Amino acid sequence: MKGHNALHPCRFCEILGIRIEGGNIHYVPLYRPEGSIDPANLPMRSHDKFLKQGASVLEAPTNAAAERLAKDSGIKGVSLLASLNTLNFPFSFPLDFMHLIFENLIPNLVRHYTGTFKELDSGVEDYKLSGEVWSEICKAGSETGDTIPSSFGSRMPNIETERSHMTAEAWAFWSMYLAPILLRNRFSRRRYYDHFIKLVRLIHTCISFELKRSEVEGIRKGFQEWVLEYEEIFYQKNLSRMSACPVTIHGLLHIADGIEATGPVWAAWAFVMERYCGWVKRSAVRSRKHALTSIDNRVLETTQLEMAKMRYGLTKKLSLKPKRGRTSKVKFSNYPEYAMLDPKRTLAVDAALTRQLIDLIVTRCSPDSVDRKIPAAVARKYVPRQLTEWGGVQIHDTGDRANGRAHRKPESSTRDSCFVRYECLIDRNADNKGPEDLIQETFFGELQRVVQLDLPKSSELHLYQDETIVLAHIRTCNAIKNDDGFWEYTSMNHSPHFVDLKTIACVVGRVRDRGCWAFVDRSGPTAHAKMASPPSSQCSDVTGFSTSDESDSSPGSLSEGSLTSGSSPANANGSPMDLDTSSSE
Ligand SMILES: [Zn+2]
Repeated sequence: MKGHNALHPCRFCEILGIRIEGGNIHYVPLYRPEGSIDPANLPMRSHDKFLKQGASVLEAPTNAAAERLAKDSGIKGVSLLASLNTLNFPFSFPLDFMHLIFENLIPNLVRHYTGTFKELDSGVEDYKLSGEVWSEICKAGSETGDTIPSSFGSRMPNIETERSHMTAEAWAFWSMYLAPILLRNRFSRRRYYDHFIKLVRLIHTCISFELKRSEVEGIRKGFQEWVLEYEEIFYQKNLSRMSACPVTIHGLLHIADGIEATGPVWAAWAFVMERYCGWVKRSAVRSRKHALTSIDNRVLETTQLEMAKMRYGLTKKLSLKPKRGRTSKVKFSNYPEYAMLDPKRTLAVDAALTRQLIDLIVTRCSPDSVDRKIPAAVARKYVPRQLTEWGGVQIHDTGDRANGRAHRKPESSTRDSCFVRYECLIDRNADNKGPEDLIQETFFGELQRVVQLDLPKSSELHLYQDETIVLAHIRTCNAIKNDDGFWEYTSMNHSPHFVDLKTIACVVGRVRDRGCWAFVDRSGPTAHAKMASPPSSQCSDVTGFSTSDESDSSPGSLSEGSLTSGSSPANANGSPMDLDTSSSE
């Protein structure tokens, strides 16, 4: 291909680039005075035509003729890879989502919002944030370091003052989880925020572990609408503002083409390769004088080790990963989705805990809440003097760990993973003594302790076999859902209460925004999109990223009719995201 500044700069279609008068850079807006281009009907390239155009350049009688042909098509030859008939040009080479979105589009949107995108001001629109507001947004983002669990990703730099620290991973986390909260009600017009949120939703869909074909059509239409609106806001049908429409904006119209050809974006994105290169750079170059030999030896040695691990089932024994302090986990058969984490200790049951446990036993074991309610005196007999307390719990669905606050040293500067979202059934008629009417409600709170209550087989408690109940002791946040669907709170209940561990859905992070704490909840369609998941097994041994034990891993399931890559994801945890932490802007 001729490159992004060519007359035909797109490898997927033959759209013609146009120049600002007097300029020499080609841009590819959809709106053109002579007639706009329909994003749903782009002049797509085809495999045969692509190769034919490349061949005609190679066979041209003179250099001048070759250059002219290359200029006309944007193709300047035929790649050696064309001899592989399994490849389709250009569709086997999707645009890299990491570079396109997280290293181009999002930083460029921030430049628009801060009035630093090339020479453009807001024109007839008013999307620029004031310097004061932007500083506040950046500060709030950078202060999430302690309140967002480390499993969500690296600490967020201050975009304003530490821009060079913004990696693709940081841009991804900021745009998908922090910016929707921090940009809310910041623009002069609601439209700019809504436009940004539409993009965030599209990104979330694109990075899903699996996609249905109908969802790919949704992505296609979604980006078509988003790009049209982008042009209205930033290009404003004003040819002198054409620099707002580089080929990276046009590229969004081909994300669905790439997904259709090669699977969800994670199957081909550059995070995995970049992280591998980062690992090579950091750990394999032992000798400056013989750098290549050094890399060669290291790659060979680790590959041999990997082969031995796989062949003889010695993944754990031959692991070079540094041992973490807390590794043992205990599972209970009635809590298959959770693993209890060390340290384990004994907790003396005081009067307050006794009262709570009596209530819990009565509620849990009584066949009904009126006629056959277990008397408190009976329940009291089953409250032990001591309980087993666990340091925290790992939630199988996301792999995230929730730690009990009671186990965290007050002076600890580690990142907070004590806050959780939990779902309880609430009786709507509890106050008016009407018939039981249960609905599921969402709560957020700070996990204080995880305790184990062992109840013996007992006819008084209507228990026909011994039962172990694992309880979470939680201080509830008085959270409300705001108009944009984000949960936030300003106060918490003073006393913790017990809920069954099964009610805990996920670990959440928090961001303090304009006097409120808002929750950063990664669950839902992107629950498996880990920001700092282990890279390929070679790298995991040397980078020391936290990961669950191999025994816990379960490859992601692929449903029939879904669109996934032909090969396995980069790691065995079913996690599509393997975001690079080394690449920078
Ligand atoms: Zn195109």
